[in-house]
Amino acid sequence: MSRFWSPFVHDLVPYVPGEQPKLSRLVKLNTNENPYGPSPRALEAIRSAADDSLKLYPDPDASLLKHAIANYYSVDASEVFVGNGSDEVLAHLFLGFFKQDKPLLFPDITYSFYKVYCGLYQIDYQTIPLAEDFAICLKDFPTDNGGIIFPNPNAPTGIPLPLADIEGLLRRNTESLVVVDEAYVDFGADTAIALVSRYPNLLVTQTLSKSRSLAGMRIGLAVGQAPLIEALERIKNSFNSYPLDKLAIIAGAAAFEDEAWFRGTCQKVIDSRELVRECLTRRGFDVLPSAANFVFARHDSRSGADLATALRKHGVIVRHFGKPERISDFLRITIGTPEQNQALFEALDAEL
Ligand SMILES: *Cc1c(COP(=O)(O)O)cnc(C)c1O
Repeated sequence: MSRFWSPFVHDLVPYVPGEQPKLSRLVKLNTNENPYGPSPRALEAIRSAADDSLKLYPDPDASLLKHAIANYYSVDASEVFVGNGSDEVLAHLFLGFFKQDKPLLFPDITYSFYKVYCGLYQIDYQTIPLAEDFAICLKDFPTDNGGIIFPNPNAPTGIPLPLADIEGLLRRNTESLVVVDEAYVDFGADTAIALVSRYPNLLVTQTLSKSRSLAGMRIGLAVGQAPLIEALERIKNSFNSYPLDKLAIIAGAAAFEDEAWFRGTCQKVIDSRELVRECLTRRGFDVLPSAANFVFARHDSRSGADLATALRKHGVIVRHFGKPERISDFLRITIGTPEQNQALFEALDAEL
């Protein structure tokens, strides 16, 4: 704290990311990174682009990457926005669409960055409780709102929504923007990008941090009809003309072009997830049905806080959110390689 801070900074409540430990021997199952690494073609593209041309600014429009994404999803490049991680894309869309007279709606248990952006941009919001089984119930979202955002699958529960439910919401809710945050969609849910051509108020965000294993490059995207993308471009060009560096643009495009690597590594994560689910269930956990690269699980006798601390002593880090009360005994456990998952089971066996 300092007297030079503006009053506004005093009141900010920043997001707290999962720990990135300096010790490399830890089994890191706490921030939903993908253990299989980026496409070798993306890595090769980065190596071959790391040359003297880095003295020049990158393409401010990142058009190589936008075209690769447009090609992958069969949309027009004017329907694609890219940013420095999907967190930046989200920040821009909160400012561009959700600063309204009516409150923004999102689930009470969801990605905690949404509240942080509401604080940063002074956006009024209202949370809608998850159902008894922790699923998002879109029917509970009133249509009188300043916008709606939710992840599919939801974080940190991992529970997916059927596309029909999302389309049902879009049919009802025509007067405000609906954003579907698809950070984990590639691990088992259906993308709403297929609905973009029919709904002018739908914006879908994705990230290359999880399914394409490029968290370190910071690449995120949004797909929506061109007028929505234009709003995001206006904000981006009022904030930072070059949010994606040259290496990120090239790596992101190569990652979208290497579909075989993408599909193969996602499938390995999905297969391991089902195994992890079984193994946790056998050890006394209640595991929510996940379509993401993590599971959200609660033990029948040990508290979440206690288990997270115990696992850490065995060198395994998982994410524990103390709040809200309803999820205070859950652990969010990222799916690792078979060896990492085994280390988790051994740590649990030593503890339970
Ligand atoms: C990880 C995550 C993001 C942010 O991803 P980045 O592209 O790495 O910024 C956004 N939304 C949800 C729900 C996430 O879990």
